[in-house]
Amino acid sequence: MNEGIFQIGPIRPPSEANSLLLRVTENCPWNKCKFCMLYKKNDFHTRPVAQVKKDIDTMAEYRDRILQHKKDGEFDMSAVHEEFISLPSDEARMCYQMVFTWLTEGDSQAIFLQDANTMVLRPEWLIEIVSYVRQRLPEIQRITSYGRANTLSRISEEDFKAIRQAGLDRIHSGYESGSDKVLEMICKGATQEEEIIGGRKVKDAGIELSIYFMPGVGGRELSEDNAVETAKVINEVNPDFVRLRTFVLRTGSLMEEVRDSGRYTEATDMEKLLEIRNLISHIDPKRAHGKITSDHIINLLQEVSGYMDQDIPWMLSYIDEYLALPELEQRKYQLARRMGFPLDWKQFYRLREKDQAYIEDLAKNVVDEKAWESMLHKYMDRYI
Ligand code: SF4
Repeated sequence: MNEGIFQIGPIRPPSEANSLLLRVTENCPWNKCKFCMLYKKNDFHTRPVAQVKKDIDTMAEYRDRILQHKKDGEFDMSAVHEEFISLPSDEARMCYQMVFTWLTEGDSQAIFLQDANTMVLRPEWLIEIVSYVRQRLPEIQRITSYGRANTLSRISEEDFKAIRQAGLDRIHSGYESGSDKVLEMICKGATQEEEIIGGRKVKDAGIELSIYFMPGVGGRELSEDNAVETAKVINEVNPDFVRLRTFVLRTGSLMEEVRDSGRYTEATDMEKLLEIRNLISHIDPKRAHGKITSDHIINLLQEVSGYMDQDIPWMLSYIDEYLALPELEQRKYQLARRMGFPLDWKQFYRLREKDQAYIEDLAKNVVDEKAWESMLHKYMDRYI
């Protein structure tokens, strides 16, 4: 049983937080995006298919052993614990615990293929792995993976159809921007054309497409271009999901070099919100029908979420309502949110009175714009 161990990679999309994680490749084959600090110290490897299949076997065996301890809908926790401590190593215990958590608290019908770009695998290898997941874990209803736009654009329609037929349900792709100028500046290694071609192929094969964009990643200089060209890609591709990830220039990232070269000036937190508004206002509800979500703490207004063919007027008016607040009210919420407050500004009153007073005091007394942005940035720099 492979000593009861399977590999677990470091990253998965937030929407796959409850999925079982199957590591198919290690790290990122591109690894050059200037904003990204995830895999910079690690080389890319594909894992042999036979090893990945052994990992799937280990997961299936743990599932069977754990489910044997379930009687009348309840787990015999002392039997589970006894089995857990009898395992030969800490790594095996960690794997067992992951399967247990997936079965009991997670989405026991979902699995995510790690790491950064599984779609780079030879199609026949990917098909063999996905088919084996379906065979050994038949309860799985959703198999998902990351895929880079450049990679997606190179896969043939026939291969996509075969991958879909084998059982891949959804591809997550970090497009980041639809603007060629921005894509070149951040060294994304993809063009707008590749994003459109790759995205359409995914959709045409019947695979769901979830794409990520970073409002603010073009800085002040390319804010308009970033919004308009990103909306163009959304209109052309009609993805199932658009996930917003407001850009923050991370300390230690290669984007600092771009900034220092004079090509990039980071927009303020409010300017990034205005860019989100601009982006949404350029989406054509007749062509884009999927869902926009702000499912990450990095976004100022997490409530900006809805279907593009129905909810754009609502999303714009929600943003406008916030922008119409007195500056102090805007700032109080901004600061609370950047400190980790998980709700929208209409819920600000739910904070403890002591915290509200502390935040109001800070918001009132930091009058210099630079000091204000720097304080917000310090909080946001913590988020992945
Ligand atoms: S493709 Fe993804 S993981 Fe790879 S460097 Fe770019 S952002 Fe990072």
